[in-house]
Amino acid sequence: MPIHRRDFTGSLSALAGLGVLPNLAQSQESGRSPLFVATWNFGLPACQKSLETLQKSGSILDAIELGIHVAEADVRVDSVGVGGAPNAQGVVQLDACFMDGATHKAGSVAGLEQYPHPISVARRVMEKTKHVMLVGQGAAEFARLQGFEKQELLTEEQRKKWMEWKSKQPADPAAAPPNHDTIALVGMDASGHIAGGCSTSGLAYKLPGRVGDSPILGGGLYVDGEVGAAGATGIGENIMRYCGSFAIVELMRTGMDPTSACKSVIERIARTEKKPPSELHINFLAIDKQGRWGGAGTDAEFQIAVVDSHSARLESPLLVK
Ligand code: ASP
Repeated sequence: MPIHRRDFTGSLSALAGLGVLPNLAQSQESGRSPLFVATWNFGLPACQKSLETLQKSGSILDAIELGIHVAEADVRVDSVGVGGAPNAQGVVQLDACFMDGATHKAGSVAGLEQYPHPISVARRVMEKTKHVMLVGQGAAEFARLQGFEKQELLTEEQRKKWMEWKSKQPADPAAAPPNHDTIALVGMDASGHIAGGCSTSGLAYKLPGRVGDSPILGGGLYVDGEVGAAGATGIGENIMRYCGSFAIVELMRTGMDPTSACKSVIERIARTEKKPPSELHINFLAIDKQGRWGGAGTDAEFQIAVVDSHSARLESPLLVK
């Protein structure tokens, strides 16, 4: 049964009870603590995997990639990777991007079909090509040539939901937007190396070929090694037109703390859109070079997973009304 972010917490406690999650109280490090922050409650096991990976491999890039794999591989997370929601034609098309603050290099894929780990393909674009973004068939061909394994991404559960949605078209325009959500995961190691990634199936039942904010650098994710990183989740169309994550990082560059920067960008967007924030469905998180984290959103259920050497927890960020 798919687990949407709203009812993921039960299974997290079950995991902790089984001892699957490491005892972070024992993994304290000297000096600056590594820090991982991710969107939604399904970001918590992802961030824990990031910390474990960092402790094993010492690589912040591996930590970001393998952390996001956890959400991409979990069929119960119904908006990311395998088990993600399909487009209007019943095809799962995934978007992802990856960015390294130390080099300011980045990679991105959009509309990728049949590959379960778009975050890895995005990282490979960054590391193995002269380009930044590959889309559609070109991205899939690149993934094949890089040796990634194909997999059917549409689960039976999602196929049934899509059939039901299809039978009700045309939809009531006043109805709530269909399911969506993204994992945006940003982190910093003890030396201050910052990186981040973002992965999603995007808006459920989107027009085929629709690309949201998540694979757009500066939209769904932005990392600047001198300043910090920001990531987004929500209606991509309301985020990408404002380069939301870039705007947050630039405010932090002026000295603003992460939460104030996220809040300020949401207020700017609401002002320009002439809409109450609650109608925008935009949510952000950020970390800065000083090791501070923060976030703000317009959805009351928005949560941020925060994992450092001392604790692993879910936080409710500032609600902008
Ligand atoms: N931002 C994603 C998109 O628009 C969806 C989400 O995070 O809710 O594709």
